[in-house]
Amino acid sequence: MVPPLQPDQIAPGVAEICAKLRDAGFRGWVVGGCVRDLLMGRPVSDWDVCTTARPRQVCKLFSKVVPTGIQHGTVTVLWKGEAYEVTTLRGEGTYTDGRRPDEVFYVDEIEQDLARRDFTVNAIAYDPIEDALADPFGGLDDLRAGVIRAVGVPAERFAEDGLRILRGARFVATLGFELDPATEAAFAGALDTFAKVSHERVREEWVKTMKARRPSLAFEVMRRTGILGRSCPLLAALTEHAVGERTAWDISLGALDASRPPPMERLAALFHGVGRPRAPERAYAAVSADLLAGWLRDYRFSNLERNTIMHLVRHHRLDPEMDDVGLRRFLRDAGKARAHAVLRVARAVAIGEGRDPAPFDSFKVRLEAALLSNVPASVRELAVDGRDVQQAGAKGRQVGEILRTLLDEVVEAPERNDRTFLLRRIEALLAAPRP
Ligand code: ATP
Ligand code: MG
Repeated sequence: MVPPLQPDQIAPGVAEICAKLRDAGFRGWVVGGCVRDLLMGRPVSDWDVCTTARPRQVCKLFSKVVPTGIQHGTVTVLWKGEAYEVTTLRGEGTYTDGRRPDEVFYVDEIEQDLARRDFTVNAIAYDPIEDALADPFGGLDDLRAGVIRAVGVPAERFAEDGLRILRGARFVATLGFELDPATEAAFAGALDTFAKVSHERVREEWVKTMKARRPSLAFEVMRRTGILGRSCPLLAALTEHAVGERTAWDISLGALDASRPPPMERLAALFHGVGRPRAPERAYAAVSADLLAGWLRDYRFSNLERNTIMHLVRHHRLDPEMDDVGLRRFLRDAGKARAHAVLRVARAVAIGEGRDPAPFDSFKVRLEAALLSNVPASVRELAVDGRDVQQAGAKGRQVGEILRTLLDEVVEAPERNDRTFLLRRIEALLAAPRP
């Protein structure tokens, strides 16, 4: 049974904002995701307030206000060191582009504002001063039943904003709910509208999906409703590719759910095998990483995010039973800073493949011992540097090549990381005829 809300569950700062609005003759409600999360007994990440006051009136009432989205009726109120979004009740204008309403207009009734929201569980508002819940679309019943249902006629709502179908898939995973069948049935007709949605908004939903305990639930919905085929053909192709008894798709979803919370690690686990249909088992990781570059750029992942995902994917195919030389080569290639993350992705992929993850835990112990003993894994850690190589007579690109050769030799035998020894090696390398 979902417990009803109590005024003291509302963050004090938010309740004070609602009280101040009330004292000035307006009304204020908490609304949307925060009300849903409170009713589910989950922690609230951000509080959204809606009000009958117009943006200009909100600005007058509070001393510190930032007009963050004033053209949509939203201002950010800074209150006792916290920032809260306060939005004037609004209806939604007509959509001609399936992306954003052509115009925004204000309304006076909370029910009208709730009517423009996407799903019934997101269309509940609570007035903490009156201790009154506004739930005109049966959101509380759907919360209790664990159902994601569009507000109003699904096809119409999805035609207004194509992102809603992806949000529906996301909520299946983050809330652990089922899609109402009539709501899901309308997804197919909304795919063309979905295809027009900006990639930034799609990216944001993908990243938010990674917060679910089992993000695969969303990706299963995306696969069966066609969202995946429209937004990521690379992943959609995996459903057709057999790996032993399973498909590369099943392995990816298993890896995704087994991966750890940082979103970029989860995405790496999900994407690890996109190269599988195009490359043999021993070579697919690098192919996957290269294939991803374009998609990640297209979907507006930052350079850091893109590099992180590609790096984790490129190096994840490791044999946890490798010998010590192999371990040091792994540290050189994966980098000390990212070795643990690569290992976590590798372990998640092994679980996705139905393999025993225990060898990865033993490998982790060995990895930590190697890190503690400061084994050299980059040219910066060599007992000589570029100046030494230059002083011996090397020029231009040759300097880097010699350092990398020395590193490779030191990785094979760490006792060679001795300054006198390496200085002599530099002389010998320079004297040797170049290939
Ligand atoms: P989360 O907790 O993951 O942030 P949320 O429900 O709070 O989920 P937000 O994107 O923060 O999602 O949106 C806040 C509220 O605004 C939603 O609960 C919903 O009422 C409304 N909303 C957001 N996006 C849309 C949309 N595309 N169409 C209709 N209503 C939306
Ligand atoms: Mg939110």
